[in-house]
Amino acid sequence: MSGLADGVTRARRLLEEADRLVAVTGAGVSAESGVPTFRGEEGLWKSHRPEELATPGAFRRDPRLVWEWYGWRRERIGGCDPNPAHRTLARLARDRGLRVITQNVDGLHEAAAVELRASPEGGGPGDGPREVGSSGPADLPERERPLALHGSIFHVRCTACDYRAPRRDPIDASSRDSLPACPHCGALLRPDVVWFGESLDPNVLGRASSLAHGADLCLVVGTSAVVQPAASIPLATLRSGGRVVEVNPDATPLSSSAEVALRGRAGEILPKLIE
Ligand code: NAD
Ligand code: ZN
Repeated sequence: MSGLADGVTRARRLLEEADRLVAVTGAGVSAESGVPTFRGEEGLWKSHRPEELATPGAFRRDPRLVWEWYGWRRERIGGCDPNPAHRTLARLARDRGLRVITQNVDGLHEAAAVELRASPEGGGPGDGPREVGSSGPADLPERERPLALHGSIFHVRCTACDYRAPRRDPIDASSRDSLPACPHCGALLRPDVVWFGESLDPNVLGRASSLAHGADLCLVVGTSAVVQPAASIPLATLRSGGRVVEVNPDATPLSSSAEVALRGRAGEILPKLIE
């Protein structure tokens, strides 16, 4: 048996034996959907690094440039579909109560969960008949809703008041005056994401940490495990005696603590865990 096949067998056994499951995901889980990660060559946009654009300072200095970048990302991500990795995690969420904790801002975990609920095979047990295509994120049961640690690229919030809302229409970043403005107070809107140097919502982070703490298995998929505090969430599972299974083509700082490290692409490996 090859190393990978052996690892898959061991990971399947851990998954079958576990009662409380979480998954912590990063940009790599969406790579096979065509969403670029930040680290690769494709992470650059017009020769800017994401670390130079995804910051409050960059937005203060040049909101037009930052919105232009987000407009490009929204367009690119808007054309992407969930891949078999998102779908496998959505299945585990529906059938085994797995909670998805993601660093991604692309909405693809939620899209996979909605797609699964709307599929002809229907929702979870006891949900009754559903009309195909009738469901949206609001219909997802709480337990199947991913925790988005870093927010969503398809949500905006006001830089001055409490206004926040979903928003998917194209952004006109041709001038400072065409940028989206708050319908309540007229101030500039910004993407509702957590930028480098900003704090995560303490409620979301607290829920993620307590889910990881209570889990006996944490799947860590497609994250370089260097962006804090998200990178520490799997450590809560380890500290409480649970185990970590990592899925990533490359080694990360977490690999040596993982019970099993599956070296390969998420969209190829995850479906094998539930076949
Ligand atoms: P990262 O770019 O630092 O790391 C991506 C990881 O995915 C790497 O370790 C890489 O080896 C791995 N990977 C690449 N292809 C893979 C595949 N097919 N299957 C499995 N793994 C694969 O991403 P990060 O750890 O999420 O941290 C970057 C930050 O940037 C996060 O905070 C995130 O919010 C943000 N980000 C989000 C998106 C998105 O929403 N899709 C995209 C880029 C960056
Ligand atoms: Zn406002």
